[in-house]
Amino acid sequence: MTTVLAIAKRVVQQIPACAEVFGTASSRANGFDPATVLSALYHNIETPYTLFPLVSMVGGKPVSSAFAYGWTLDGNEGVEFNGFYVGTSGFMLGPRVWLNVGNWILEGRASTFNAMTEVILHEMGHVYNELQPQGSGGSQIIQYDKGNGKSSENTQLIFRKCFP
Ligand SMILES: [Zn+2]
Repeated sequence: MTTVLAIAKRVVQQIPACAEVFGTASSRANGFDPATVLSALYHNIETPYTLFPLVSMVGGKPVSSAFAYGWTLDGNEGVEFNGFYVGTSGFMLGPRVWLNVGNWILEGRASTFNAMTEVILHEMGHVYNELQPQGSGGSQIIQYDKGNGKSSENTQLIFRKCFP
């Protein structure tokens, strides 16, 4: 994950068209810098099904990520959903990302780091959409992309903007 996270941070920092997928100029300057959100979301990625995921806060909402097994993901490379978090102040809803661990290992063996980077950027686009009420500015990622062919459109968008 360290390598892939570093590549993802590099492309959002060095390629303006890639940064522009995530939020607006004003949201990126106000708490939603894509490189910062990448760190918050993925730096303590863990194994699935923990009741108390290692949470970072983005825009006042808890965010986290985990590796999950393919059968929970319907064969998708990753999913993003609004999940429950248990905290000292009770239950909170916040974005969670699950990455397909089988797919991740296969792509890792093949050293297809761009494909791995695409997945974490794509899922982060969904997180930006979830956090629109918190001022993220949304993203160019189409939010409802399961079973309607939009997921591959989102994937192509990331490749076009971030791996020109
Ligand atoms: Zn998607």
